[in-house]
Amino acid sequence: MNSSEVLVIGGGLVGTAVAYGLAREGLKVGVLDEGDDAFRASRGNFGLVWVQGKGYGMSPYATWTRGSATRWPILREALLNETDIDVQLQQPGGFHFCFSDTEWQERAARLQAIRDDLDGDYPFEMIGHAELKRRLPAVGPQVVGASYSPMDGHVNPLKLLRALHTACSKRGVQMTSGVRAQRIERDGSGFVVEAGGQRFHAGRVVLAAGLGNRALAQQVGIHAPVAPNRGQVLIAERVAHFLDFPTTYVRQTDEGTVQIGDSMEDVGFNDGVTTDVVSHIAWRGVRSFPALGEVKLVRAWGALRVLSPDGFPIYQQSSTCPGAYVVTCHSGVTLAAAHALRVAPWIAKDLAPAGIEHFSGERFLQTDKVFTHGH
Ligand SMILES: Cc1cc2nc3c(=O)[nH]c(=O)nc-3n(C[C@H](O)[C@H](O)[C@H](O)COP(=O)(O)OP(=O)(O)OC[C@H]3O[C@@H](n4cnc5c(N)ncnc54)[C@H](O)[C@@H]3O)c2cc1C
Repeated sequence: MNSSEVLVIGGGLVGTAVAYGLAREGLKVGVLDEGDDAFRASRGNFGLVWVQGKGYGMSPYATWTRGSATRWPILREALLNETDIDVQLQQPGGFHFCFSDTEWQERAARLQAIRDDLDGDYPFEMIGHAELKRRLPAVGPQVVGASYSPMDGHVNPLKLLRALHTACSKRGVQMTSGVRAQRIERDGSGFVVEAGGQRFHAGRVVLAAGLGNRALAQQVGIHAPVAPNRGQVLIAERVAHFLDFPTTYVRQTDEGTVQIGDSMEDVGFNDGVTTDVVSHIAWRGVRSFPALGEVKLVRAWGALRVLSPDGFPIYQQSSTCPGAYVVTCHSGVTLAAAHALRVAPWIAKDLAPAGIEHFSGERFLQTDKVFTHGH
């Protein structure tokens, strides 16, 4: 039987960030991943390391997200040193565009509410069209203004996934792909996981299987009611450099292509592409930057987000099966640094990061609460 000190189920951005962090802590780590047949948010995302606006109504999440963005340069440096892969992290700050005065005012109120919850320590500014045009000359006349925060940035998310996989392999993490974990059982003080006809033994088990966590978590007594939410994304051909900052819906990648996104759709496990949504995304992109009207679109895809009922992460150790953890979230790019550098030490050394208790899945068992996506 295969055995490890910690077995991570799921080899997407979340699982590999945690596995890499655990290996850095000196543990013998295994990763099981279902592979290409599974839904994978990690291959279809927008690449933002984004803070502004997150944690509305839940300030521990705002703090957690900002803490991850602050630690991102450490992760980037470590991955570069260990793998030679530069994930192209840039953190120049980011803009969220508003297309009407009402949107601008709602945005200002939302960010101010988060700032108030954090006793004023939350840098952002609201700017009008003229100032925005000065900072982003390519912006279109229909954008009435924007919020800007210096906390935001972006990376190349595919390079990030590759760097995490490479770093795990170099640190001796046993990666088994093409197997689906089906059963998790207690075995003495550890666990046995049945996957693809094989049995894997581990002292601790981390469920980082994205949408697969919903079913797996029940087996270790954790409530993780994650559900799919589709995002469609467009890629335009390479164009001359025109955008120095990421924005919520348009960013120019390190390779020169333009990524235009993204929808939020409740359509179950359908990860297809639809003409109406793609047209709307393209229309909003051209309103943001009219020159995009002249560029060719080269690709479009749909991918499924991993959303909890309130949109915030679930981090929890099981009380009925101690040693079993769930780690799942909606923003696995942004939170990669927190997962590698804070969640992994928690699991390795039982050092709970401040505020982690707010992210227990138990919150969804409070029947008097109504959840809305506040991420
Ligand atoms: C359109 C879109 C845009 C996004 N934009 C951003 C962004 O700009 N910034 C940001 O921070 N985040 C963004 N995200 C979210 C980000 O991509 C996800 O948070 C992240 O990829 C989740 O990673 P994950 O590892 O939890 O899940 P996944 O990538 O879905 O990986 C889960 C893995 O678990 C495996 N698995 C599942 N079940 C089992 C099982 N039973 N046994 C073994 N393996 C199993 C699967 O094979 C898969 O590889 C976006 C997502 C989408 C869809």
